[in-house]
Amino acid sequence: MADVVLKAVEKVFGSERVVKSIDLSVNQGEFFSLLGPSGCGKTTTLRMIAGLETPTSGDLLIRGERMNDVPINRRPTNLVFQKLALFPHLDVFDNIAFGLKLKGLPRPEIARRVDDMLDVVSLAGFERRRVTELSGGQQQRVAIARALVNAPAVLLLDEPLGALDLKLQLRLQRELKRIQRSTGTTFIYVTHNQAEALTLSDRLAVMNEGRVEQIGSPADMYLHSATSFVASFIGRTNLIAGEATFAGGEARVTDGALSVVLDDADAPADNGRTVLSLRPERIVIAPKTPMANGIDATVAEVEFLGATVLYRMRIADGRILFVQALADTPPLAEGTAVRLGWGKDAAVSIRSTTVAE
Ligand code: ATP
Repeated sequence: MADVVLKAVEKVFGSERVVKSIDLSVNQGEFFSLLGPSGCGKTTTLRMIAGLETPTSGDLLIRGERMNDVPINRRPTNLVFQKLALFPHLDVFDNIAFGLKLKGLPRPEIARRVDDMLDVVSLAGFERRRVTELSGGQQQRVAIARALVNAPAVLLLDEPLGALDLKLQLRLQRELKRIQRSTGTTFIYVTHNQAEALTLSDRLAVMNEGRVEQIGSPADMYLHSATSFVASFIGRTNLIAGEATFAGGEARVTDGALSVVLDDADAPADNGRTVLSLRPERIVIAPKTPMANGIDATVAEVEFLGATVLYRMRIADGRILFVQALADTPPLAEGTAVRLGWGKDAAVSIRSTTVAE
């Protein structure tokens, strides 16, 4: 069942259309992310769901009810920001209990719900600490507990881990996922960090310049990117664009010095311009057995990443191919001449390359 539905939702500020006719549907209990570069409109979209902005046009439904003009305090949503809005003069318990006290719930009920929430965010024993005496990660967990204690149908999170150091971000990502699973709350999560969105989300929407480019599972987005923007925003890829020709069950797309052979079923059959995405990890350095595709290259740059090595390989027309290899042998030196190969199934065609205005 859908918890949050946006139908042709637009937001215009002055003369700028910052959200352009967005359609999306977030299921109950789903961890859904809005991912995209700075300024693409993801925060504005989240703020419309929260009730902090009103859509200029379109319909916003939460649990089947139209919410366009419903004030923030009458929506079954709650919001967690990157910048915390905790009360510094209150302790952890009172910060979490704040909303429940406003509602006038009986004390024993408040105590029970706050205790449950402290367990969920692994802060049992911290109830009497001032929030100013907590680490950034602990403060963020208090903010999440405070947002969840009212049992909202939907929790909206705007880059909640953005201000934390990388190690803490990674730890809290796992905790967020655990909290989301254990409470069954629908999470809508805004981030510009693609690794974070891939790790956390059941499904995500990639946004670009106010539009949704693609919605799907992390694996779907990575393996079957719908647009060249999505293919390059989610991970790294080599984009190959050219006319496709067909012969003997094979398609060939030629782009400069690169000529890529793939099964004809995998390339659009209109003989028009085709764009392929060839992921760096699908290219083999010095293949031991012949492969359907091959090209000579020179190592231009080496990036040692620990488990893998990312090479920038220069080909005959001067362009760079990204190649990612397991670091099971010492990295190749810059200037080394190599043969590269990949199979017929390595490059995938991108369905649409332009987004209609
Ligand atoms: P970031 O990751 O940097 O927060 P974002 O994708 O969340 O970016 P938004 O904050 O939604 O992007 O902003 C989208 C566009 O709308 C930007 O160009 C921004 O300047 C503009 N914008 C946002 N809020 C307002 C406002 N209240 N008035 C006018 N323009 C606004």
